[in-house]
This record gives sequence, C-alpha cells and structure tokens, in this order.
Amino acid sequence: MDIKILATGSDGNCVWISNGAISILIDCGLPKTKVEKILLAADIDPTKIEAIFVTHEHQDHARGLPFADKYKIPVYASEGTLKELGRLETGKILKSFIILDAFSTSHLSIAPFPVHHDAMEPTGFVIRDQHEKVSVLMDTGKVDDAMLYAMSHSHQYVFECNHDEDMLVNGDYPDTTKARILSDIGHLSNQAAAAALAHLVQGRGERIYLTHMSSSNNMPALAQGAVKKALRQKGLQAGKHYHLEVF
Ligand SMILES: [Zn+2]
Ligand SMILES: [Zn+2]
Repeated sequence: MDIKILATGSDGNCVWISNGAISILIDCGLPKTKVEKILLAADIDPTKIEAIFVTHEHQDHARGLPFADKYKIPVYASEGTLKELGRLETGKILKSFIILDAFSTSHLSIAPFPVHHDAMEPTGFVIRDQHEKVSVLMDTGKVDDAMLYAMSHSHQYVFECNHDEDMLVNGDYPDTTKARILSDIGHLSNQAAAAALAHLVQGRGERIYLTHMSSSNNMPALAQGAVKKALRQKGLQAGKHYHLEVF
C-alpha cells in the first residue's frame, strides 16, 4: 500500500493510504482549502477518495471535515468522536470493521482499536488488503498490550512520536500542560514510541513513519535516535531490516 503523510503535527494531520484501487484519508486536520491544496500538490484526486477515517475530534485531526462534505466523502469514526464532532447524523459509526470494495479482487478493510487520549472515544486504525497490513497510531498517552496485539505483524506503521521527555520537562510549557502531555491520556514520547516499535517490528523490511512531532519539545534526530536505539537492541538495523522516515 502507498502511504503519504500529507500533513502532521499540532497544526494538522492528514494521511493518505491507497492500494491502487481504493484510497482513503486518515484524519483531516487542516482547513478545507488547505486539504484541497495539499492533495493537488500530491497529485491526488479528491473525487477518488472513498472515505475519511477520523481518530478523534481534536481540531488538528478534524478541522477539515467540511472537505468531506464538499466532495460527499463518507466520514467514519467511533460513536464518541462523531458525537463530539456533531456528526452522529451524517457520519458513519465504526464499531468493528468495514470493507471498501473496488473489484472482487481488491478491497481494503479498516478496523479501529481504542487508544488512550483525552478525547471522547479516540481510536487508531488497522488497514488491510490481501497483501499488507498498515497500522496508524495518532495521539495516545500510552501503548497497551491490546494495542500492540491489534497492530502486530503490520508491514507499515504510522506512529505518533510527539516529544522528547527531557525537552518537555525542561521546556517552557506551563506545568499543567506538561502534566497533560506526559499523562497516560496525553501524547506519546519518543521513548514510549520506541519501546512499542521494538515490540512490533520484526525486521522484515517494515516501513515506519514517525509523525505528530512537537515543534517545541522534539527534534527529528532525537526521535529517530530513540527508535533506532531500541531496534538496535533487538539486532535490527535501519535500511537493512526496516525503513524509517521522520516527518
Ligand atoms: Zn489529540
Ligand atoms: Zn493531535
């Protein structure tokens, strides 16, 4: 499957995933016109997007949903997320999984899994076709065993890698904000993301996309370093056993 990280970070998140026959977006967190612009720049036709899946209601993930309305693209999310977005009537509640069919030989199945974040009913998503499994983990304060199980054996991982714990603790944020980010329903640190990826990645050429990086409390080199270190301890080398990209 092809993955394009169209936007990521606290200003807005939007990920395009396609198996050639079917294309979807995970989150739509930029203003509507900006979504159109980044799709155009990436050579993606908005009318070819089958569905948008929203991880949770925070603005950096859902601000651009009027884009879905304009192009009549169905919006899927948990019941709690749709409720918070005021879209219970128009959206589609995603409880277990759905299958998007293109031809009898080509489909995508998309399943949510619960995550830990200060939103109503936040989820990550597992996307499968007949060849591949992709896991998308956006905002979460921690990764538990059920989440690891849901994401296990993926070929590609889109993973939040929000902050370096030392940078956050020693940085300028107010103590209440620091506490929120560090809590179990906040955001994933480089260290926590690295530990989770060390459980998941087997060294079979998996692709890892590190996203949602804080501009104040992280640096790409730190995020990359933390993940590489954790995987090196499993005997895995970047470029040889897995591929790593930081956004
Ligand atoms: Zn959030
Ligand atoms: Zn976010």
